[in-house]
Amino acid sequence: MVEYQIAARGIRDQRVLSAMKEVPRHLFVPPPYDKSAYEDYPLPIGNGQTISQPYIVALMTELLALQSTDRVLEIGTGCGYQAAVLAALVRQVTTIERIPEVAGLARANLAAVGSKNVEVIVGDGTLGYPKKAPYEGIIITAATPSIPRPLIEQLAEGGRLVAPVGGRDIQELIRLRKKDGSINEDNHGGVRFVPLIGECGWNG
Ligand code: SAH
Repeated sequence: MVEYQIAARGIRDQRVLSAMKEVPRHLFVPPPYDKSAYEDYPLPIGNGQTISQPYIVALMTELLALQSTDRVLEIGTGCGYQAAVLAALVRQVTTIERIPEVAGLARANLAAVGSKNVEVIVGDGTLGYPKKAPYEGIIITAATPSIPRPLIEQLAEGGRLVAPVGGRDIQELIRLRKKDGSINEDNHGGVRFVPLIGECGWNG
């Protein structure tokens, strides 16, 4: 998977490639889909939610340009796969999931693969998690109409935020960088995510 779907499509960050080799994706995919765990597409995980396509996980992780001392906030834990990849790269990951059953699944999956530096919080991630802010990296893994203001506020100076921004069905992958108090933005192409539902996202 890493060689043919991720490195071959242009992901160059060696730390990202080795983190993705380390984390056993099949342990995050419920049967009967676990047999397809290393194919390059999203898969259903229950409760109408999905595990993201491996290439997109790699691309978003690379765009975060992480260092081992960073603290990262993820919005939209799902089954916990992206959180496990992040946890292999940084000091501390806080991840927020709105559906309690999905958060429970993620906690079990993360324990099964031995990711210890991840905290799974149940709640509305569009408000962020001020208690542990600021974060050097913030990743939103659900589709948002715009970047929630609280998340921009919780981004550290020099921090990076990656999110799918646009309509409910199709979005553009946007990266924000906060530097000297101002924000610059770049676009990394079309993606599809399930909707981010919450106070600063879609309403239901
Ligand atoms: N990161 C996952 C993919 C998550 S799919 C992976 O590694 O595969 C998106 C998830 O976002 C779903 O589980 C959905 O329930 C959750 N979600 C949607 N709106 C949310 C919100 N406001 N706060 C937290 N989680 C949210």
